[in-house]
Amino acid sequence: MQQPSPHTLDPSDWDELRAQGHRMLDDIFDYMQQFRERPVWQAAPAEVRDRFKEGLPYAPSSLDTVHQGFLQDVLPYAIGNAHPGFMGWVQGGGTPVGMLAEMLAAGINANVGGREQIPVEVERQILRWVRELFSFPETASGIFVTGTSMANLIGVLVARTAALGTGVRKSGLAASGTRLVAYASKAAHGCVAQAMDLSGLGLDALRPIPFDRRGEMDLTALQHAIDEDRRKGFTPFLIVGTAGAVDTGAVDDLSSIADIAEREKLWFHVDGAYGALAIMAPDIAPRLDGIERADSIAFDFHKWAQVQYDAGFILVRDGAMHYDTFASPAAYLQRETRGMAANSPWPCDFGPDLSRGFRALKTWFAIKTYGIDRLGQVISGTCALAKYLGQRIASEPELELLAPVSLSIVCFRYRCDSTDDADRINNDIVIALQESGIAAPSTTIIDGKLAIRVALFNHRTNVGDVDALLKATLQFGRMETVRTESAAL
Ligand SMILES: *Cc1c(COP(=O)(O)O)cnc(C)c1O
Repeated sequence: MQQPSPHTLDPSDWDELRAQGHRMLDDIFDYMQQFRERPVWQAAPAEVRDRFKEGLPYAPSSLDTVHQGFLQDVLPYAIGNAHPGFMGWVQGGGTPVGMLAEMLAAGINANVGGREQIPVEVERQILRWVRELFSFPETASGIFVTGTSMANLIGVLVARTAALGTGVRKSGLAASGTRLVAYASKAAHGCVAQAMDLSGLGLDALRPIPFDRRGEMDLTALQHAIDEDRRKGFTPFLIVGTAGAVDTGAVDDLSSIADIAEREKLWFHVDGAYGALAIMAPDIAPRLDGIERADSIAFDFHKWAQVQYDAGFILVRDGAMHYDTFASPAAYLQRETRGMAANSPWPCDFGPDLSRGFRALKTWFAIKTYGIDRLGQVISGTCALAKYLGQRIASEPELELLAPVSLSIVCFRYRCDSTDDADRINNDIVIALQESGIAAPSTTIIDGKLAIRVALFNHRTNVGDVDALLKATLQFGRMETVRTESAAL
């Protein structure tokens, strides 16, 4: 028998590691099974924080010791997005299946940048499934990325190549002498502006378009801005539609944006981080009408589809344009028709990353194990919960809805006699809710008013959790109001 390498990091006793591994798996299953018995979130005490300032360990420790440290100091102090009471931001809850698949992916440790290997085919199968979901042609390309922030950046870069030609990759934007400008709703996510910045187009090249009462991009204003820019010598090249605005869940009128983009010959990109995968839910999918006409769609499996972080995706209708935006020759990336360098083009030809993890596997397991119908039901379920919460707020005199309930986000507040006090009181209510561990909403600003923002994304959240949130909100609201009134006396 071959001797192991003297430097191997594998165990000398696999039986012992196996037993320890099984205990670790049991511990994390216990954690997942008992979410409800713990607070959504709790701040870590100072002595826990201090342990993360300990110095660089040169000597080994036993795996069991390190795992005990994890159980004691890490596990209890996550932000809590896996917990049913988490309603803070647009984040998914994850699933036990996704966790197991992550473990398997780590076991293979595949680098899915490319080459002749089935992990690349797993990712391509998901691309095929995604094309089918969005009715995109077979020539459409796509890859996994960290998240929609990266997917939007890729969308902007491909749109830039489409506008200026591949020569821009060599000579740069300035040499083109063209002042490209893009359009997105003021309700668009901040990473759209960031994509303009990172791509060298600059923040000023993004025209923020106002939105209407429903939170949807004002298309008259959009058309006006395009006309105005053309008159001033700018070159419009891109419209970003939002499918699920991060503050309120509003969905832009994608069909009409597609009409404008077609007429004006502009690239139509959809930021569907939040909402695109509602395509899986037959009752919600009609809200996305027009998405099938997009030139590119950015979205996240790690939000509504409950896949473990991170699992963003970019889908591009014109696969050749996508390839031409990123593919770069290099001797060490030489392609062949046989052997391990076959199977071109590779995922690394469609984005800035060369080394890439096997994000596709957890997504593949989740889609196969749960099925699209069941994942769609999770999405419908969170929208139904949001509607229920909206109705309860509307019938509660002490509360006030601040935005229409579009998908699964509800923005409201506790009414106060004085508007000066309202922002502070509602902010305090949210902090009190978070610190209570009962429920964890967040805040945002709607029409200049501070809103309690309840974002329902977790497949574990039920009516009881929403009722508990309402009950605690009313309780904290009354306490805060009493406190404010007595302080004024
Ligand atoms: C979450 C979100 C993003 C950012 O996506 P990440 O996956 O966090 O990078 C962009 N746009 C919208 C509408 C989002 O909800």
